[in-house]
Amino acid sequence: MSFETRARHPLPQGQAVACEPIIRLAGIAKTYKTGEVEVHALVDVDLTVETIEMVAIMGPSGSGKSTLMNLLGCLDQPTKGSYLFEGREVATLQKRDLSALRLSAFGFVFQGFQLIARTSALDNVALPLVYADVPVAERRARAKEALGRVGLAGREDHTSAQLSGGQQQRVAIARALVNRPRLILADEPTGALDTRTSMEVLGLVQSLHKGGITVVMVTHEPDIAAYADRLVVVRDGRIQSDKKQVPHDAAADLAAMPEQAA
Ligand code: ADP
Ligand code: MG
Repeated sequence: MSFETRARHPLPQGQAVACEPIIRLAGIAKTYKTGEVEVHALVDVDLTVETIEMVAIMGPSGSGKSTLMNLLGCLDQPTKGSYLFEGREVATLQKRDLSALRLSAFGFVFQGFQLIARTSALDNVALPLVYADVPVAERRARAKEALGRVGLAGREDHTSAQLSGGQQQRVAIARALVNRPRLILADEPTGALDTRTSMEVLGLVQSLHKGGITVVMVTHEPDIAAYADRLVVVRDGRIQSDKKQVPHDAAADLAAMPEQAA
């Protein structure tokens, strides 16, 4: 059965796969070759993420964070090792199956939002559903619903230029949500936002996480990583440390912040 089919027909409860961790990486290596030079971006990574964890990944520039996110999101494939997603090997899948999996299971959020300019929030959010061949009326309804979930009801027709940075990131999160993903992968989602707006976006991500979506988020800032319930530190392509932590509560911290002068 393809991933797409499987997503529409979830396995009956009680089967072994239902208790599998959502992510299980074993002995993952990624080597980039440019001419004669080999870069060992990831060396020997074992990482297990349980369903409904919220994991922050930190590490210096060049340590392999984006490479790891690209592998997790099936945007790229490892040179070596095994990646079980929901109990199924995906390290060796064909391109077609990888894109079907991405469309049915993953939502991506990036530092720079990556919205299409001069295009409405609604059309930006609906885009993944175009690729998934969802009929137009359903696309619009689901995009509208996703914008409502991120607090942007009524802004469907706004283009990026008519939205603040925080609102643009909310549109990007709505786009990540519209295919009802089980995993959200966010690479520096608050990197381009001020403190208060970062807190709003983190509050939103935490609420999605509480609603049952697993989150893996790369960040440079310890203050942002504090909102995850687990912190993984990457260095030189290896996992240097991996610890559970008690997450800060973004909604509470936002409420405690002084109002910004208008
Ligand atoms: P980070 O996101 O932690 O800054 P990256 O995963 O982007 O790190 O990069 C890890 C290493 O792999 C770096 O040395 C980087 O230069 C190299 N690298 C990343 N992507 C490529 C690529 N497409 N081709 C060649 N080298 C790459
Ligand atoms: Mg990076």
